[in-house]
Parts: sequence; C-alpha cells; structure tokens
Amino acid sequence: MKCKQWLVLIAAVVAMWVSYSALASDEVVVYSARNEQLIKPLFDAYTKETGVEVKFVTGKAGSLMQRLKAEGENTPADLLITVDAGNLWQAANMGLLQTVLSEKLNQSIPEYLRDPENRWFGLSVRARTIVYNTDKLSDSDLSSYEDLAEPKWRGKLCLRTSKKVYNQSLVAMMIAEHGKPQTESIVKGWVANLATKPFSSDTKMMQAIAAGQCDVGIGNTYYFGRLEDKDPTIPLKLFWPNQQGSGVHVNISGGGVTQHAGNVKGAIALLEWLASEQAQNLFSDSNHEYPANAAVKPSAQVAAWGAFKANPLNVAKAGELQVEAVKLMDRAGYK
Ligand code: FE
Repeated sequence: MKCKQWLVLIAAVVAMWVSYSALASDEVVVYSARNEQLIKPLFDAYTKETGVEVKFVTGKAGSLMQRLKAEGENTPADLLITVDAGNLWQAANMGLLQTVLSEKLNQSIPEYLRDPENRWFGLSVRARTIVYNTDKLSDSDLSSYEDLAEPKWRGKLCLRTSKKVYNQSLVAMMIAEHGKPQTESIVKGWVANLATKPFSSDTKMMQAIAAGQCDVGIGNTYYFGRLEDKDPTIPLKLFWPNQQGSGVHVNISGGGVTQHAGNVKGAIALLEWLASEQAQNLFSDSNHEYPANAAVKPSAQVAAWGAFKANPLNVAKAGELQVEAVKLMDRAGYK
C-alpha cells in the first residue's frame, strides 16, 4: 500500500471514530414530571448500556409544559415525560410534541395506551379503582363506579378533589362511555354520598377509609401499594369494578418527543428503550405501577392485587373530554 492510500485509510478510520464518539456522546435532554428518584436509576442504566448521557429537569407537568411553550425553538428539551393521558393530550394539543413513527413503540405499547397520532406513548399504567375498608365491606358489596352513586352509599363515600387531573380523566372517560347527562347524574350521586369533603390527595383519602371515616373511595393503585408497604395489615383492599361491563379505568404515565427537539433520533431511541422489556420493570415496579408493555409482568406485590379487565377505550379521550369533565363536575357540585 502506498503512503497516500495509508493516509486515506487512516483519515477514514479517524472520521468514523469521531462520528461514532459524537453519536455516543449525543446527550438527550428530558423534561420530567416524574421525580428524580424514579427516573435517575433508569437514565443511569441507559447511559451504562449505550454511552448516551441523559440530562433531565424535573418539575410539575403544567410548569414544564409552559416552559416548553415559552422556550419554543430554543428549548434544550428532547423528550417530555409526565403522568396522566390528560396532561400528555394537553401537551400534544399545545403543539409541544411531534409525531414519532416507530415500529418498536407501536409493537411494545398497546394502541389504547398511546396517542392515535403518535405524539405520546404510555410507559406505565395505573388503575384508578375502588378501594374499601375490609372491616366494613367485602367484594360482594361492590360492583361498579356507577353503583357508588346509589343511595345505599349515603355518607359512606370518600373522594379526592375534582381539581386533580386523575379525577378529571376518570370523569372524561365516563363521558366518553355514558354521555354527559348520565355521567352528570352519576357524579351528582357521588357528591350526595360523600362522608366528608373531598381530600387533597389519594393517600389522605385512603387513610380516611382505613380509619373508618368512610367505607369506600376511588384511587390510584400505587398509592394503595405505598400504604401497604408501610403497614401490610392496613384494613384496605382494592376492588376491580365494571368487570362485566367496560372494565377498570386505567391511566398512564408516558412520554413524547418535543416539537423542537435538537436530538430527535436520540429522544426516540430513549423512548423505545423505556418501552422495552428490559426497562419496563425498572419503570413500573419502583412506583407499584403496571408495565405498559403487555409482554412484561408487573411486580409480585402488584400481581398479588389480582388480574382485571381494563377499559380498552383509548386514554386520549381523557384529554379530549377534559374541559367537559371539569364543567360537569362543577355543575354536579363536586369540589
Ligand atoms: Fe400520583
């Protein structure tokens, strides 16, 4: 080989090495409404596996969305991660997320847990289900969300505030199923049955049920898991309603690539990894959630709560009907 050929070869190798290391160090910036404790171990595992650094900023969903909007094209964020389909739908509706065409994501995440326009994808699932006091009730006393509006529950129901997006999403999904008039009469029934004014958190509501202030309520499964961790003998149990009908109301935490992401490829790769079998348990188990990827099993503790039929209606409805749900809850006197 002549000297010139050697030089060309060396130059090519150097160019390849430079582009590879640029790729490997092409960091991804995430805005996350999920806390550091949950996401940092995941991102550390991703960096260890791929060499790609992940920088993140945590905050409340609303403020991260406002920040993305204000930063516009200058945002450093490539990926937005938040809880509740209502929030993800809002982000997409505000033009903050871009369409992602990914075979991997479409295969890992069931259709009802992702945006019909592919702007966000569920990464974990939480059920918003019935919780009851085991000293007062048993499974046979319960049947559906709608049943909790019946007069037999007068003075026995506890709820969290209607200001929380989780309840807005629940009521939005009920509007999608029953229409507005029927949903309004159900919500009015709930309000009439309240034992006390709505609570500021699911945890406080569940503690009130355990304390006997009320018999039954509606809350997210992982809050129950946290209480169970603290006190395995707490007199509370989850009940899976609507099993003969539409199924349990589920919601997601999830993510989407930002509209003005500088590193679209890197953001998609991270999102695909988060949805993969290897990352799904890391993502869901630490907060007692269900994996969004149907091929992945929940933790032993979560599995012990029993299997249930989930409502297969696309969670995007929670966003589409959120404004209607808020108005309806206001009309029904649900504070
Ligand atoms: Fe929560």
